[in-house]
Amino acid sequence: MIDRTDPPNESASDETLGATQPVTALNLRWLILSLVLLSVLATLGNSLVTAYRVQRDALVDHALQSNSAYAAKVASSLAEFIHSAQNHLRYSASELGKAWGDPSVMRAEALRLQKQDGDFNSIAIIDSTAKVLEAYPDTLQINGSTLRSDAILKAIEAKRPFISSAYTSAAGNLVVFISEPVYDAAERYVGIIGGSVYLREDNALHTLISRHFHHEGTFAFVADQDRQLLFHPEAARIGDTLGWSKTVDAALRGESGSMSVRNYKGVPMLAGYAQVPGAGWAVVAQQPREVSLAPLNTLMRDVLLGMLPAALIGFVLMWFGTLLICRPLNQLSRIARQLSAPQASEQLRHVKAWYHEAFSIRQAMLAGVQLLQAKLGHLNQQVLTDPMTGLANRRAMDQELRRLERTGQTYSVLSLDIDHFKRVNDTFGHDKGDLAIKQVAHTLQTYSRVGDLACRAGGEEFLLILPQTGVESASAIAERIRQAIATSDIPTVGRITASIGVATCEHLPTTAEIVLKKADECLYRAKQGGRNRVESYLSMASSDSE
Ligand code: GH3
Ligand code: MG
Ligand code: MG
Repeated sequence: MIDRTDPPNESASDETLGATQPVTALNLRWLILSLVLLSVLATLGNSLVTAYRVQRDALVDHALQSNSAYAAKVASSLAEFIHSAQNHLRYSASELGKAWGDPSVMRAEALRLQKQDGDFNSIAIIDSTAKVLEAYPDTLQINGSTLRSDAILKAIEAKRPFISSAYTSAAGNLVVFISEPVYDAAERYVGIIGGSVYLREDNALHTLISRHFHHEGTFAFVADQDRQLLFHPEAARIGDTLGWSKTVDAALRGESGSMSVRNYKGVPMLAGYAQVPGAGWAVVAQQPREVSLAPLNTLMRDVLLGMLPAALIGFVLMWFGTLLICRPLNQLSRIARQLSAPQASEQLRHVKAWYHEAFSIRQAMLAGVQLLQAKLGHLNQQVLTDPMTGLANRRAMDQELRRLERTGQTYSVLSLDIDHFKRVNDTFGHDKGDLAIKQVAHTLQTYSRVGDLACRAGGEEFLLILPQTGVESASAIAERIRQAIATSDIPTVGRITASIGVATCEHLPTTAEIVLKKADECLYRAKQGGRNRVESYLSMASSDSE
């Protein structure tokens, strides 16, 4: 009697809603975090580059200034040295002039000069014909010899205080010769007294230059007007003639200052330069740029380490910040995938929408969900209800039977059919027939308990499903319903009767189909038995066995 149809798929609407959601791998939180990370890295990088440039320029400036000061200091010390050496020589020259040619005076002056302060490596007294009258130390063994070197001849010719260029002396030393003219008591020019600085041996220049404080990696060198090196920390280079050099040229022109240059090997150097007043020599103090910038690496590491904790703390704060910002949106988006679920409203109410936008979205979703659920509830009601009687329809009946089948509980089914209904229609018309159907439906509802389900199975056939009810109780209920129908007056129609078949699952194999079939068989039997009666599966079984 009952057509079995599959129950509607409750989750179908949810799946349809879910399928319309665009699926994307990006989520808000990762987008914000990526942006934050990018900006943190960009800021960090920018700060590091700026710090690097500022520190580098400061280091270069500082190195240039200190090298310039170092060169100036060395130049002024050398000037002082020359000045004092010339004073000593001048004094001896005046003493010699008073007794020119006296060997004891010459010896005494040479000794005094040599011992005075060690300015010179050797002393020589030479007459105007370039003959050596006295030389000290004695190891030179040039007493009485006539010197031919250019520098000595120039010094004799000059007849005034003289500083030679570097040259190789008669004794084979690379020297600078500083001399003063000697005039005798009659003011006649008679010769010179001079001292030599041995450039390749320990000398006054060396002592003077290394006496000054200087930075690590900084070194100074001194060149004469011919660009010949008088002093250089690499001893092998002393005596070399320099090629083109911006710093030496500037110093020889009398300028002082600093500049970035490349040395003869092409290495970038930070150099200071100055001229030695009186001698005209060039002093250059320089250090490789790389050495000056060596502290930069440590500095940058310190800057980075200094910035890292703040950057890390900032990132962690952003991590939690994005978590807080995105949490309500995440929850709302999860709920949005299941808007038709019955718990959607409740879930939405639990979302902590703590800021304006999330709050507005949540309120809009809540309103939408309530509307949707009201509509769905209404539709659901319509889908499961018989419009004429308000009873459950076959679809609802099938759902309930399947539920009972699943739970395996005891239940009974009453199958009811109005007797001779065709006659009612024929006699009173279809409308009055409908009225009779509604009246029977009302009676069924009146006699249903909470949990029972009264259904209109079609036409003037009804079904009452009674969970947790055995066959005796079901038969008793059926009997009361039969009597109620049979004793009720229907306007115009008068009285009608109905036949009822009762079946219970407890004495049968448990499919709902079989229970329904048995109820129908009982109904048929009731009809056969004269109508307006109740037949139960039990009574049928007992009467069969009789
Ligand atoms: P029986 O005692 O054997 O059941 O006799 P019956 O005349 O009731 O026979 P049956 O159950 O086969 O007849 C059902 C009739 O009910 C046929 C049809 O015209 C009528 N019917 C079915 N649905 C409706 C309805 O919705 N309204 C009205 N007024 N009549 C209906
Ligand atoms: Mg019928
Ligand atoms: Mg009938």
